[in-house]
Amino acid sequence: MKGLLNKLTQEGVVHSKLVYNTMLKVDRADFIEKNPYFDNSQYLGYNVVISAPHMHAYALEYLSPALSNFRNLNPKNFRILDIGSGSGYLTVCLSKLIDDEGIVVGIEHIPELFLKGKKNIQKHHKNLLDEKKIILFNCDGRNGCKEFGPYHLIHVGAAAETIPQVLVDQLARGGRMFIPIGLDPDNQYIYVVDKDLNGNVTSNKTISVCYVLLTSKEKQLRGEC
Ligand code: SAH
Repeated sequence: MKGLLNKLTQEGVVHSKLVYNTMLKVDRADFIEKNPYFDNSQYLGYNVVISAPHMHAYALEYLSPALSNFRNLNPKNFRILDIGSGSGYLTVCLSKLIDDEGIVVGIEHIPELFLKGKKNIQKHHKNLLDEKKIILFNCDGRNGCKEFGPYHLIHVGAAAETIPQVLVDQLARGGRMFIPIGLDPDNQYIYVVDKDLNGNVTSNKTISVCYVLLTSKEKQLRGEC
C-alpha cells in the first residue's frame, strides 16, 4: 500500500496526510485478489468494478475537508453513508477517516456482492462490523437510508442522472456528498454537493470520470449499465 500511496502522492492525487494515513490502514489485498496495488479498476462480477485506488483517494480528498465543519461534534456521532459499497474497501476507509468513531452505513443491492464485501471486511476489520461501526444493508441504495441519517458525509459509488434530492435531504447541515453524475460514460463528472450550516445547498462539477450506473438490480444484471 505504501508504494501505491507514494505513487498517488507524487501524482498529486493524494495530498493530505489524513488521506494517506487513512488509506495506509486498509490493505486493498483484502478486497481484490489480483494486483491489489496497481492503480486500476478491476472487475468484481455482476457487471461492476472495484474503483481504481486514485478514485478512492479522490473521494476521500474531496470528502474529508467537510469534517472540519463538525469540530464540536462528539466523534461518536459521526454518520457516513456509502452507497454501492461493493468490495467494501471504501466503506472501511471511510470508517478509518473518522478513526473508527461514529457509524458508516454501506448499501449494496447485489446480494452476492453484499456478502463478498462483508467477508472482505471481516478479514482484518471484523471488529467494525461486530461493534456496529460499519452497518451493511443489502437493498436498493437510491433512497439512501433515512434510519441512520442525517449524514455528515455521503459517498455514492455509482452514477446517477441528476443529483438525487432524497440524498440531499439526508445530508446534515455542514455535510458533503461526493457523487458521479451523468448516464453517458463520455460525459460523466463528480459533483461535490455541500449543505451549509444554514441548510443552503451548492454543487460543484469537478473531475471527469467513468462509473457504472446507480440503477436497479435487474438492469445491472442485464448489463444495461
Ligand atoms: N465502491 C465500491 C463499488 C463501486 S461499483 C468499490 O469500489 O468496491 C458500484 C457499486 O454500486 C456496485 O457494487 C453496484 O452493485 C452498486 N450499485 C449500483 N446501483 C445500486 C443501487 N441502486 N443500490 C445499491 N447499490 C448499487
